[in-house]
Amino acid sequence: MSARILVVDDVPANVKLLEARLSAEYFDVMTASNGTEALALASRAECDIILLDVMMPDMDGFEVCRRLKTDPATHHIPVVMVTALDSPSDRNRGLEAGADDFLTKPVSDVVLIARVRSLTRLKMMTDELRMRAITSLEIGMQAPERSAIADAGKGGRILLVDDRPSSYERLATILAAEHTIDVEPNPTEALFHAAEGNYDLLIVSLDLNNFDGLRLCSQARSLERTRHVPILAIAEAENATRLLRGLEIGVNDYLLRPIDKTELLARARTQIRRRRYTDHLRDNVQNSIEMAITDALTGLHNRRYMESHLATLAEQASTRGKPLALMILDIDYFKSINDNYGHDAGDDVLREFAVRVRKSIRGIDLACRYGGEEFVIVMPETDLHVAGMVAERLRRSIAGEPFAVHKGTKRIEVTISIGLTTLEQKGEAVADVLKRADTALYRAKHDGRNRVVSQAA
Ligand code: GH3
Ligand code: MG
Ligand code: MG
Repeated sequence: MSARILVVDDVPANVKLLEARLSAEYFDVMTASNGTEALALASRAECDIILLDVMMPDMDGFEVCRRLKTDPATHHIPVVMVTALDSPSDRNRGLEAGADDFLTKPVSDVVLIARVRSLTRLKMMTDELRMRAITSLEIGMQAPERSAIADAGKGGRILLVDDRPSSYERLATILAAEHTIDVEPNPTEALFHAAEGNYDLLIVSLDLNNFDGLRLCSQARSLERTRHVPILAIAEAENATRLLRGLEIGVNDYLLRPIDKTELLARARTQIRRRRYTDHLRDNVQNSIEMAITDALTGLHNRRYMESHLATLAEQASTRGKPLALMILDIDYFKSINDNYGHDAGDDVLREFAVRVRKSIRGIDLACRYGGEEFVIVMPETDLHVAGMVAERLRRSIAGEPFAVHKGTKRIEVTISIGLTTLEQKGEAVADVLKRADTALYRAKHDGRNRVVSQAA
């Protein structure tokens, strides 16, 4: 998996060095020699990851990072600060500015490539979700960016998997200042615990007794319910190579012992913020799928969904040799309801009509709003006789009880006409079935309305 990396450094030799190493691993590299240039390139969404030098004239790396992370157009791009500074307070300044990681010069090749690869995977996943969320934006969903930028990453639910009391007691105390934290000292229980607990972050020790913490991480990655939960691994410095292995199998970030308190909190916040952002994108996609197949006024399926699903139902019915009934319902003199009581009253009637329809049909029946005041109900495994009884019951449920409009201050009589038919056994085109039901509906209207007309195939 390749990606385009933006390398930002004011010293040409440093840029050349990183460029050569990344190119050798087939990453696409672009470069900038100052913050202003970097911000301009990033805002045109031309890079996937940014390697950012800290000490630069005019605008330093911390400031560039802060600006990237507060701009809706760039805040999702992972930023790795690269610097000669290496005190905990420098690292923490970078993390506070929103950086995803911090690498110290001279940068080790292995660490650099492992980190860039891991961030590339993350970026690809986020891009996919963002792309779909942009589609939902176009159909009127809310942008996730604002809340994501405002989110401080606090108040998360964290599961800490660590079997050494001296270690987990200290870590839990630190984390409890900003989050809710559960400790799981038994690694064999950890996966189950993680799947059940709806956590925002897993912190896994790789120094467990008689248990491979990386195995736990890889299992968490393959399990449906923990797949998207970020993992922060912690390990003794001599286990650093295992941490790199961890990045390959999907660990999101790591910390070396002895753990610096501020750094732990900062890295936990970064992961939790990211998690919430991607969750938000995912919800967005889910909502837009629902919106795309639902009629907003009545909550029934829309015509587009019905047309594609009807074809499937018809095919199923003919291959299994089962009957399939279809009816078209049309509200009588609906135009005069609008004319006499107003458009809002008409909408009230449509909504209440949908409620009554839902009460009269089974879960496997498909009800949809076909047009303004026209509805279609498809009933699998139902013959004309039974469908006729359902239609008649539905007709009575409308005519038998006046509809409340204008917030219940007025009640009006409503009736419907229904045209009913079934699919021909030998596998007929759905357009022909709809046509026949429509002809039956026309007869119901013509014969005086408020009635059901059945038309055998
Ligand atoms: P018929 O008994 O022959 O069906 O007469 P009708 O008045 O019900 O039929 P017609 O097709 O003439 O009028 C349908 C009306 O439904 C016209 C349209 O303005 C109204 N309508 C369509 N969609 C909506 C909607 O979403 N809300 C409201 N309030 N009215 C709608
Ligand atoms: Mg009508
Ligand atoms: Mg009509």
